[in-house]
Amino acid sequence: MKKLELVYEGKAKKVYKTDDPDLLIVDYKDDATAFNGEKRGIISGKGSVNNRMTNHFMRLLAAAGIPNHYVEELSDRETLVKRVTIFPLEVIIRNIAAGSFSKRYGLKEGTVFRKPTLEFSYKNDALGDPLINASHIFAMNLAVPEELALIREYSFKINDLLKSTLMECGITLVDFKLEFGKAPDGTIILADEISPDTCRFWDTKTGEKLDKDRFRQDLGNVEGAYQEMARRLLG
Ligand code: UDP
Repeated sequence: MKKLELVYEGKAKKVYKTDDPDLLIVDYKDDATAFNGEKRGIISGKGSVNNRMTNHFMRLLAAAGIPNHYVEELSDRETLVKRVTIFPLEVIIRNIAAGSFSKRYGLKEGTVFRKPTLEFSYKNDALGDPLINASHIFAMNLAVPEELALIREYSFKINDLLKSTLMECGITLVDFKLEFGKAPDGTIILADEISPDTCRFWDTKTGEKLDKDRFRQDLGNVEGAYQEMARRLLG
């Protein structure tokens, strides 16, 4: 499958057309941004880790009954995916308080929740991806109730699957962000990436952060953390 014209360039990925109108090629970059693009940098090797880790999770999730956009890994950084129309929503699942949740509710980072939480943000860089609730989503016609119910159901199931897989590698899944899309035939499928850029991973034994927080918080050894996650998960 050949890369044709660039259709989209985001902060961490480029997306290309192919000669099949229903398929796209995603090309993962080493560029990193945080705080809505205010902080920028390069994390060498990140594109390859994020591509391979995302594909590993997508294959696992597909086998467990979560439809997703993965088709085929083409190279270290490139993957063939199904074209979908992305819902302009970020779905955030949390098992442990961290990041914006800790800040918003004054809850100490590391507080373990009685049950996993789910929240939505409205994907809009100019507005800084504000929190949005179901009632707002229906009012703005961003999704209909049946679609949102399925997105919730999939998201909690994905949490269970990722949590147990990561636990076997000595990693605690703190929180993560998902994006869903609608395929041309109307089915709702998981899209985007599942990587240290979009999840918080803590070493279960030492509590060491093995994700993008090392970049956000200038903790050092950012590249090493991405490589360590790849080693644990992909061998
Ligand atoms: N996240 C993401 N993209 C975003 C916002 C959040 O991938 O635009 C991920 C983030 O890496 C973390 C989880 O979603 O794993 C929860 O992030 P949080 O709301 O705590 O925001 P942050 O602290 O990253 O601002």
